[in-house]
Amino acid sequence: MPQKEVRVRIAPSPTGSLHLGTVRTAFYNYLFAKKNKGKFILRIEDTDQQRNKDEYTKEILDGFKWLKINFDEGPYYQSERLDLYKKIGQKLLDEGKAYQCFCTQEELDELRKIQRAAKVPEKYDNRHRSLTEEQKKKLVAEGKKSVIRFKLPDNTDIKWNDEIRGHISVNTNDLGGDPVIMRADGIPLYNFAVVVDDGDMKINYVIRGDDHLHNTAKQIPIFQALGYEVPTFAHAPLIFTHDREKLSKRKHGDIANIDKYQREGYLPEALANYLVHMSWTKPDRPEIEIFKIDEVIDQFDLGRISKSSAVYDLTKLNWFNNHYIKEKSLEEMFDMSKKFLEKELNLSLYPKEQVLQMIDSVKAGLNKLDEIPGLIKFFFDDKFDLSSGENQKIISTESAKKIFDNVLKAIDSINFQNQADCKKTIDNIGKELSLKGKDLYWPLRVALSGSNKGPDLGLIISLLGKEKVKARIEKVLKVLV
Ligand code: GLU
Repeated sequence: MPQKEVRVRIAPSPTGSLHLGTVRTAFYNYLFAKKNKGKFILRIEDTDQQRNKDEYTKEILDGFKWLKINFDEGPYYQSERLDLYKKIGQKLLDEGKAYQCFCTQEELDELRKIQRAAKVPEKYDNRHRSLTEEQKKKLVAEGKKSVIRFKLPDNTDIKWNDEIRGHISVNTNDLGGDPVIMRADGIPLYNFAVVVDDGDMKINYVIRGDDHLHNTAKQIPIFQALGYEVPTFAHAPLIFTHDREKLSKRKHGDIANIDKYQREGYLPEALANYLVHMSWTKPDRPEIEIFKIDEVIDQFDLGRISKSSAVYDLTKLNWFNNHYIKEKSLEEMFDMSKKFLEKELNLSLYPKEQVLQMIDSVKAGLNKLDEIPGLIKFFFDDKFDLSSGENQKIISTESAKKIFDNVLKAIDSINFQNQADCKKTIDNIGKELSLKGKDLYWPLRVALSGSNKGPDLGLIISLLGKEKVKARIEKVLKVLV
């Protein structure tokens, strides 16, 4: 157990919706903080005024809340801390650890062009590192704007022992030249603001995606220049798709963002389990895949996060979701799926008790809650398609017609209150006609529900009730004539 109070953070940028990868990283931070009885901090990195949107900030906050990821501090907003970055940027300038760079975009483009032609790595050549006061004055007088760049040590291996990836070493010559830390308009760039904040907020473990490895190599010298203790780093693998592409909204659409899962009726505990399990397994029984994350806090260990990239697999997520759906009571399911049900169905047609029975009848096969209305819709109206190839074949046989006739004849004797009795009436009709199994049930299923699959036939008949059963069978007989 670390000596000092553990302080970790998640620092999303509101330039898009809440990404699955960010959520997974948040869970790892959450587990690590809880295990070490430390603090988990939320910081919104909203300095990119062009790409930030308030609605994304809201989605991020709502998303974490929905996932029951609670924070001990924050949200802190970088946009409210601009004075601090300015002050510290100035301090680095005064101490000669940073410098003003007056290069224009055209000059930088020109430099890149030359480097590309010479087939050498493209990078800033630190040309304004040692401008004299005289030169600076001249450039200012010419109206040139300046950014602040941090002086990286030359040709130095930046090394750290990563809690997930082990020993890492990156040479400063491979970091693209001295990084800009503050734009001409006084807005800090990520690598600077993140260090100021991690230092100021006393973050001692930085757990984030491994797309930040090179940033870490830039950030360590900045931590040192500012006199902050360098945190311990843990870089978790990113999420890829089966075709080995980084999971992204731009390429893969909605599946990359948490709001899709929120919208479609995934349970937060399923997502938590799925995302944590993607790269982390239990040490005692790694074969156990199902776990609530609050139950594995004591077993959590950064060292057990795999180095290899995680692969997004919707079938697997659905399997987790199906498991957690089945754990819910019918009342809970009703409450959770009410918004989906109300949108598509006129719930007032049935007493709640019966709607619960309908939900119960489809519960075992659900991937997600928004599938429920489609599966039980036939209870509410008969707008299903009888003429599709399969359905037409099933209802248009000689024996099907006989079944329908006999059900109509027996309709007054059916005890609709009782699911088993309803089924028994059908079985008796089957006996009379020497029909059973799908020859007996499928025509009725199709006539009453528009599908040869679905809930128990006795339940369908019992819940539909006499009037609807009669009307639907009469309708089919008419279609057949
Ligand atoms: N705002 C950064 C991002 O969203 C944070 C990365 C970090 O954790 O340092 O990628």
